[in-house]
Amino acid sequence: MSLFAKKCDRCGERTRNEEEGKPVCDSCVQEMQLMLEAGKENIRHCPVDNAAMQKEVAHMILVDRCPECRGVWLDGGELEKLRDDLQTDAVMAMTRGFTVGMY
Ligand SMILES: [Zn+2]
Ligand SMILES: [Zn+2]
Repeated sequence: MSLFAKKCDRCGERTRNEEEGKPVCDSCVQEMQLMLEAGKENIRHCPVDNAAMQKEVAHMILVDRCPECRGVWLDGGELEKLRDDLQTDAVMAMTRGFTVGMY
């Protein structure tokens, strides 16, 4: 454990956390876990145009993004997270200009 925090390998945030010898901040660790989980989930299809959607992690929320209509779709559970999450603004910024819907 060094005295000074290192920079996260992914986002450059100062962190003391390390994964496999590389500095990775807590939020990036969580995000990577989410991406792992996302990989196990079934691909969803857009309710608008039935295109296969891509999974994205944005601010700890797993979303499905449609490559056709640029719609962003959230699970009910994910909406719950948004509701009491202080990062709602960040997510809204991400989805600004896109269709946001719920299953
Ligand atoms: Zn990071
Ligand atoms: Zn679509």
